[in-house]
Amino acid sequence: MSLNVGVIGTGMIGQDHIRRLTKVLSGVNVVAVNDIDAARAALVAPDGATVFDTARELIRAETVEAVVVCSWGPAHEEQLLECIAVGKPVFCEKPLVTTAAAARRVMDAEVAFGRRLVQVGFMRRFDADYRRLKATLDDGALGAPLMFHSTHRNASVPEGLYTSEMPLNDTLVHDADISRWLLDDEVAGVEVRVPRRSSRGKELRDPVVVLLHMASGALVDVEISVNIAYGYDIRGEVSCEAGTVSLPLRPASIIRDIHGVRQAVPIDWRERFIEAYDQEFREWIVAAGQGTATGPSTWDGYAATLVADAALRAVESGALEKVDMVTRPALYASKNDRPDHGQFSQQRMKSAS
Ligand code: NAP
Repeated sequence: MSLNVGVIGTGMIGQDHIRRLTKVLSGVNVVAVNDIDAARAALVAPDGATVFDTARELIRAETVEAVVVCSWGPAHEEQLLECIAVGKPVFCEKPLVTTAAAARRVMDAEVAFGRRLVQVGFMRRFDADYRRLKATLDDGALGAPLMFHSTHRNASVPEGLYTSEMPLNDTLVHDADISRWLLDDEVAGVEVRVPRRSSRGKELRDPVVVLLHMASGALVDVEISVNIAYGYDIRGEVSCEAGTVSLPLRPASIIRDIHGVRQAVPIDWRERFIEAYDQEFREWIVAAGQGTATGPSTWDGYAATLVADAALRAVESGALEKVDMVTRPALYASKNDRPDHGQFSQQRMKSAS
């Protein structure tokens, strides 16, 4: 039995996910699409799919069993709440929502419903290299993770559309989420430093260095450079008590020519994470077919939103900004929830303030 899904938002990533759902993956049909730009939705609708005038109509359609939200962030809350109201599983591209209050409303609605319905599009958790790295950490042989060095470099970003806030409230969310997941920890505080500006980004605040203070006391440093010219370069290394573990370098290809031998870097996130996007949907299709969700949750989307907010405060204040989370609802339980968790960070925060 195939899962019948509707896709809301048929821009860049919406079209890529429609391609994935129709041409790459099995067990799924795209039966409906919607975009605020109806002409765009009609243009990319797969054969036989219905084009709905509104997201609400698509979500409520009897033919739609599960929903994929690829609209822009500010529209996510309303669309998620609508999906939860009718009990339909929903894959939501990051960000979950754009404010902490909106994240709380979505979380409250899902908790009241009583079953997970929302999966957030943090695709790095489905990447084979990150999964091997996490398996090594979880194995415990290297001891406790102490530091994580995360590098997030983009060749370029669209001039005028990508603003100085976006490294912190759009790009950082991936590093924040993967840090929480790899270290099985929460972010307790955020610092931001702005080094010499890259002339390639003109007025853009680029690069930035972010320091995530984890609740356990582990530290994560994140380099975000969004005009690095040479490609999309994602790196990560965790220093533990008895060794280190890192992502392998993932060249797009090895080139041999008259200049010698060199490794080509992936052009962009679509190329680097193509298998991760496929895998996140494979796992979503299985869970959604069972009327639920797996992987990154509303709680994880909420956490990323708080980190982004703290980072924006930190870049202005130059100080360590605290991340204050509500108590984790049982629906999103994790092994993080041990009684001593967070004590260390509370002490650190007190001494830092
Ligand atoms: P995009 O090209 O601008 O596409 C968004 C589409 O949604 C546009 O067609 C837009 O129409 C439409 N839209 C906006 N509001 C809507 C609403 N209320 N109802 C229905 N459609 C609506 O943006 P994108 O790059 O595809 O990004 C979409 C989402 O995916 C964003 O949340 C982004 O952060 C996320 N994303 C995630 C990753 C990842 O690595 N996981 C990568 C890229 C993007 P108009 O153009 O007319 O406004």
